Amino acid sequence: MRPRLVSPLRRAFIRELRRTLVCLCVLVLAAIPAGAGPDQRTKLEPGWDLFSTQDDIKLGRQNSEEAENLLPMLKDERVNSYLDTLGKRLAQFAPGEKYPYQFKCVNIADINAFALPGGFVYVNRGLIQAADNEAELAGVMGHEISHVALRHGTSQVTKALAPSVGVAVIGSVLGDNALGKLVTAVGAFSMNSLLLKYSRTVESEADILGTQIAHDAGFDPHALADFFVVLADVEKKLGVPPEFFSNHPSPEHRIDRVNEEIQKLGGPLPDAKKDSPEFREIRRYLFSLPPAPRAAMVADTDPYGTADAGEKPEAPAEKVQSFENDSFKVQFPGNWKATAQGGSVTLYPAGGVARNEHGVAMLAYGSIVSRFEPRAGATLESATDQLIASLRESNPALEVQRKAEPMRLGGERALSAYFHNDAPIKGKETIWLVTTLRPDGLFYVVSVAPQAEFDHYTKAFEAAVNSLKFRQ
Ligand SMILES: [Zn+2]
Repeated sequence: MRPRLVSPLRRAFIRELRRTLVCLCVLVLAAIPAGAGPDQRTKLEPGWDLFSTQDDIKLGRQNSEEAENLLPMLKDERVNSYLDTLGKRLAQFAPGEKYPYQFKCVNIADINAFALPGGFVYVNRGLIQAADNEAELAGVMGHEISHVALRHGTSQVTKALAPSVGVAVIGSVLGDNALGKLVTAVGAFSMNSLLLKYSRTVESEADILGTQIAHDAGFDPHALADFFVVLADVEKKLGVPPEFFSNHPSPEHRIDRVNEEIQKLGGPLPDAKKDSPEFREIRRYLFSLPPAPRAAMVADTDPYGTADAGEKPEAPAEKVQSFENDSFKVQFPGNWKATAQGGSVTLYPAGGVARNEHGVAMLAYGSIVSRFEPRAGATLESATDQLIASLRESNPALEVQRKAEPMRLGGERALSAYFHNDAPIKGKETIWLVTTLRPDGLFYVVSVAPQAEFDHYTKAFEAAVNSLKFRQ
């Protein structure tokens, strides 16, 4: 279960947003007099964002640690220091906040690169090997730097959440430790998918600013367009678009837009750089290494990966495994995964996560063990009411099915309640909530499955709840 986007509110919000965007465009056009000079670059700025730039860095750092544990990193000093030097040189020309940029190589053959908020940039080995010259690599790195500088990750989280979370909750979210609370409110799944799955609009922005950055750093900005031609060829050969193209505007459109921006910049600088001996050396060296695996061969690089909607997960295994952190220990079916983030853990089967129509990943089958901060002096009953009220703000279809009844959780007095809610894709889901008051807040386990299948999960959910032990 996740805070859900409320469609009518969301529509109103998008309308509002469009209006704002139109206003901004008019302002920007008005601000640049025609024929003002050779440099008439498109002005781009970060969008609406409820996070601070410090949050971007914190969030990026947390996710970068996780990413580096999961991905096959190319731990090669020579390659990484080349990438880092080139990246930092480019990043100097990024507008706005100065982030602690770092650039690392992932040992994967697929042509791709990605950037986490706050400046953590990853370039696949396959991308460096596919680039014809340093200027092409610089263009792609400029594109990734632009996602960071324009704060596309957290801005996208802000836009997706704001209409559903509501002003009241945002007010409290933005108190101390905004990030932790928002991560709890949104959950690990949504956070990750939102941070990396960009819309076409922001991809196009990253192309435009990336062109400017490569140009300002002294590279021939045509190289980014050249690289799109390389990618289009790869697409023709393989019959599938390379990773760097997925969710991106069509290559023809991107080439046109890059060329348009180069004209606005007054053309490439006379001494614009195309290549360097360092790049050719690194590329030759990479080709000399044992071939990199393809992403699909790397086991489970996406812990939040979702099965196709509509596919039912296999039944929970009788055999159990344990998850343990500083505060509790819990058992769960041996064929499920545990994903921990910020003190919460999500236990779920493969295919237990579904993407809703906004591309936000939501738990459809499984349990979340987490903590809620009630108002000071709350009792178990009133703290549970507060948690339910906060869930209802983002899940307006939430209906009580069975009122809170006493039970035990980890040896402590607890409450158990059942709800119905709209399921992420279609139909209804059943939610079982168990809460207990702990010295550090309201501890809860929330378990969810489609209404029609809930009975098949009752045993697994109850076994997890009954196995829970607090560590102190
Ligand atoms: Zn991009």
